Amino acid sequence: MSTATVQFTAAAATDRGRKRPSNEDAFGYSIEHGVYLVCDGMGGAAAGEIASSLAIDEMMRLLSNGEPHTPTLDDSCKALSQANHAIYERAQKNYKLCGMGTTLVALVAEERRVRVLNVGDSRCYMLRKDRLRQVTLDHSLVEEQVRSGRMTKTEALRSPLRNVITRALGTQCQVTPDVFEIEAEAGDLFLLCSDGLTRELTDAQIEAHLKSNLPLEELCTQLVKAANKAGGNDNITCILVRVD
Ligand code: CA
Repeated sequence: MSTATVQFTAAAATDRGRKRPSNEDAFGYSIEHGVYLVCDGMGGAAAGEIASSLAIDEMMRLLSNGEPHTPTLDDSCKALSQANHAIYERAQKNYKLCGMGTTLVALVAEERRVRVLNVGDSRCYMLRKDRLRQVTLDHSLVEEQVRSGRMTKTEALRSPLRNVITRALGTQCQVTPDVFEIEAEAGDLFLLCSDGLTRELTDAQIEAHLKSNLPLEELCTQLVKAANKAGGNDNITCILVRVD
């Protein structure tokens, strides 16, 4: 078994898209702490933006403060729970923010052990040995129907209920994330993204981009550009994390 330490490289991009008046997505990361986050907010007026940026601020404050120290699974779950509470509390105090919430997909790396925590329909993908696989499962009404065999993928894409998510941060006093654990290998490329990317591009298109071997910054720009070209109907956010 190899004990060589792994190195992580990352880049991110976010864009309002072509149809929405504002950007309710938010992201944050710290390579030295091994923390990478994407949020997609929802709620009336400015509430979506408040929910997603509050989630990022809380998670970054709790997981990337002080000395470089990679968070354990327990640290990550506690931070997620506190971020949930912070949004929920804020909404309780202001009726204009009532019901606001956000998705959260987090990748937390403790050496080779990569943990992905997910609430909502933002996604994590992994490209390993030229094969793309989706790590997370969407907490959305239509995806849950697809998984239980009551709806086809095509029906899901066209459904008027495709925006309904079944789990979010901040809408209830408690939330439980899905947790996925992966042993990272050199060459792995992870993508965290909001649905503004995955609604516009198919998995095959995303895979083709990820295989292009471009520098990560440029690859992020290309993904955003492609999503805008395909419609840009929603805010688009992506973080790429490469293991070397
Ligand atoms: Ca969105």
